[in-house]
Amino acid sequence: MIIVLKPGFTEDQLKHVTDRIEEMGFRHEVSRGEQRTLVGVIGDEAKLRNAPLKAIPGVEDVMGILKPFKLASREFRQQPSIFDLGHGVKIGGGHLILIAGPCAIEGEEILYDIARQVKAAGANVLRGGAFKPRTSPYSFQGMGEEGLKLLRKVGDELKMPIVTEVMDPRQVELIDRYTDMFQIGARNMQNFNLLSEVGQTKRPVLLKRGMSASIEDLLMSAEYILASGNQEVILCERGIRSFDKSTRNLLDLAAVPNLHGLSHLPVVVDPSHATGRPDLIPSMSLASIAAGADGVHIEVHSCPEKATSDGPQALLPKQYAELVKQMKSLATLMGMTIDPLPA
Ligand code: PEP
Ligand code: MN
Repeated sequence: MIIVLKPGFTEDQLKHVTDRIEEMGFRHEVSRGEQRTLVGVIGDEAKLRNAPLKAIPGVEDVMGILKPFKLASREFRQQPSIFDLGHGVKIGGGHLILIAGPCAIEGEEILYDIARQVKAAGANVLRGGAFKPRTSPYSFQGMGEEGLKLLRKVGDELKMPIVTEVMDPRQVELIDRYTDMFQIGARNMQNFNLLSEVGQTKRPVLLKRGMSASIEDLLMSAEYILASGNQEVILCERGIRSFDKSTRNLLDLAAVPNLHGLSHLPVVVDPSHATGRPDLIPSMSLASIAAGADGVHIEVHSCPEKATSDGPQALLPKQYAELVKQMKSLATLMGMTIDPLPA
């Protein structure tokens, strides 16, 4: 449910509204727009159906939201959300981010080498997995905390915000000490305990779409994080399962404008996991920007044949640099800004 306040409402009236909501056992989130201020009521809407909220001074209207996601919805926040990732990098509302790095953190030298090259190419966020969700229990599972330390160190040296995956609610506290942004992978998109746990932190969360998740499933997962108090969720389209084996997954590019229509949250596209094919990544990256994406997430490795994870889909640093030139031209054409990193 959304409560629309009258223009010129007073802060006392707003407080009265939020106190009343809390009194009735609900939580709230205030959205101050340029034109209007809205109060989102969080809880089971059915219990509020007959409450005379419109009678509260300063309230203009009370609207039920038909969609099951509320805080994530366009109705709740009309303007696109913009989040600060650190080192002057923003995402959303015209700020495009370029996330790049290896699938897994493998060692300091190789991580530094890849990071330095993607930064020189124009990437403004560094990625790397320390805890890897591998399909086989016999595959490399990641360097763990040692890997987090390396990612933090390299991110600090190069002044790049970093993002790394969290797989388990028990890892949230540890990873929170190192990262700038959490990643929740496709396999964990509906790990509701994990969503609630990162929802209690203050860091942006890159939430990847599950392999068989609908657009509504993705937004409901975002809602878990938002309803736990963390307003900084970035949605990520990374391909869904299909019958066709010629690409790793099927990139749903329409998800970008589709999500933008339904939600104020920024949307990133990951053509690396979506296609699994370096030959398709450049065209799909450009298509993502053309579709309105707020970020492009690409795996880069300086020696893909030696990579411990996802080597076959990695771009070489020089292929990435070539692609960034094209992405920059397109971004300019689209009126988007890619925030530069400090030297
Ligand atoms: C990854 O980013 O390396 C990853 C495992 O992604 P996804 O969860 O999309 O498969
Ligand atoms: Mn990967």
